[in-house]
Amino acid sequence: MSTEHVELHCETCDLDTSHELHYAGRLLESTRCTRCGTHLEVNPRTMLPAYAHDLEKRILSKPGRMLRRARKDPWGYLRSLPGAVLRQPVKFVREFSEVLRRKS
Ligand SMILES: [Zn+2]
Repeated sequence: MSTEHVELHCETCDLDTSHELHYAGRLLESTRCTRCGTHLEVNPRTMLPAYAHDLEKRILSKPGRMLRRARKDPWGYLRSLPGAVLRQPVKFVREFSEVLRRKS
């Protein structure tokens, strides 16, 4: 388990706050707001396949805008996507965590 800190938007604080990202190996497992302590689990098994596919299509079709939005508000972004469980959860979580790491 490794940890890193990034600035993310916290819905509870309604602010950009420092978040701890917890990685299990290379996969993002959970995030925690260091201001209010809100903890979010990233569980690929609970996500729907259509989700990842849709995200991929959106990122491929509108790379700049979607990546900026995903970086700014990743959890809101995830919730805004239609569909339910990931078909490629590992690939998705890896790509998503790379988006988070790629700070501008
Ligand atoms: Zn917070």
